[in-house]
Amino acid sequence: MPLSGIEIFKLLPKKNCGECGVPTCLAFAMNLAQGKAELDACPYISEEAREKLSEVAAPPIREVVIGSDGRVVKVGGETVLFRHEKTFVNPPGIAMLISDAMDDSEIDARIDKLNKMVYDRAGFILRPEMAALRCDSGNPNRFGDVVGRVANSSDCSIMLISYDPSIQAAALEICKGKRPLIYAATEENIDEMIELAKEYTCPLAIKGNGLIGVAKLTSMAMQSGLKDLLIDTGARSLKEAFTHHIMARRAALVGKVKELGFPTIVMACEMSDDLLMQTFIGAIFIAKYGGIIVLSDFQGHSLYPLLLARMNIYTDPRRPLAVEEGIYEIGKPNEESPVLLTCNFSLTYFLVSTEIENSRVPSWLLVKDTEGLSVMTAWAGGKLTADVIAPFVRKCGIESKVKHRKLIIPGYLAPESGALEEELGGEWEILVGPREAANIPAYLRTIWQAA
Ligand code: SF4
Repeated sequence: MPLSGIEIFKLLPKKNCGECGVPTCLAFAMNLAQGKAELDACPYISEEAREKLSEVAAPPIREVVIGSDGRVVKVGGETVLFRHEKTFVNPPGIAMLISDAMDDSEIDARIDKLNKMVYDRAGFILRPEMAALRCDSGNPNRFGDVVGRVANSSDCSIMLISYDPSIQAAALEICKGKRPLIYAATEENIDEMIELAKEYTCPLAIKGNGLIGVAKLTSMAMQSGLKDLLIDTGARSLKEAFTHHIMARRAALVGKVKELGFPTIVMACEMSDDLLMQTFIGAIFIAKYGGIIVLSDFQGHSLYPLLLARMNIYTDPRRPLAVEEGIYEIGKPNEESPVLLTCNFSLTYFLVSTEIENSRVPSWLLVKDTEGLSVMTAWAGGKLTADVIAPFVRKCGIESKVKHRKLIIPGYLAPESGALEEELGGEWEILVGPREAANIPAYLRTIWQAA
């Protein structure tokens, strides 16, 4: 039974200190009851209360982890219906189908794709993370061979597709410890699949006939003590699958239906034979609640847009995309190489680093954390002013990497140059670089070389 706001309040420290982001413990309790707050926001909760409240504070869509090392996939953990309310937390896993009926060369080629399809987008590494291994041969030995081959040659997470518990058991033995996803328990095999999921401590996918069918099966699995479940309503038309996703999410979040509070599986590979259509389906379910999306193949022109859509949807809409603060090496800089400064708004970083690369002048790029704001906005907001930049230059470690003491700042920060020299005790000469990233190559090749 979920606790009411008042019942939760009784378990809180009642300090009314406001450190959780709301002024009183009562307001925090109400937010917790509505799933709008996280327990960790209050630093004073006792262990005893935490235990009692953890059920209340658990996200309405359970967070499930697939894989044990390498490309571990974490799905679910969602608390909102709409991205603008808060943020979507765990991006869906994208899986490529590998059938044991494929010949060995095709299987190796697919493993190769899983390992090599990696994209760098404005400092963010995008890549798929799952192999969905399907037993079509009906032969446990052949399936086991394919499972072993993938497990030994790739760090991707694994989904095992077979409705036959004996085939699943053989495959699970081979990838023991890798925490694969077992797909799927159905009305016919649920008892055996539950036992396997328990024995091997693996997440279990439940495939039912529609939402009610799924809820019936998840209820059985939950009663047996299993918690890490994913659901597939069996819908294979876009309209029906989409409707089921919306209804399941609403039921879990608004209706508090625990039986549907699990991440979902979208078998796009079974919804169309056309890879572009599968991409289209994948994009829809990235936007609306897909947990794992299984495609029949990966091709750059279809995979990359999906990875990009996923990155965009699963970023906090209230925070601009940002890269980490620090020193970035571009080319192979040495102690004589130029040192440039920029903000950590990822688009700015991407443009600046690309233009430095284009200049072919190996450089050090200092990226200051401006909370994802661009140079101008950060400067106007006091996040990229002389008194902020100077301590960063001192602490980041650049002084041990270069012999010279010349720092190139963005042209927009020209008004800060004098103050920055002062803040740095006159040890650094501040050079005002170009305003636009496009002019960096010319600057580095001419003005820097002459400086
Ligand atoms: S941080 Fe904890 S003690 Fe302080 S107001 Fe929030 S709930 Fe109460």
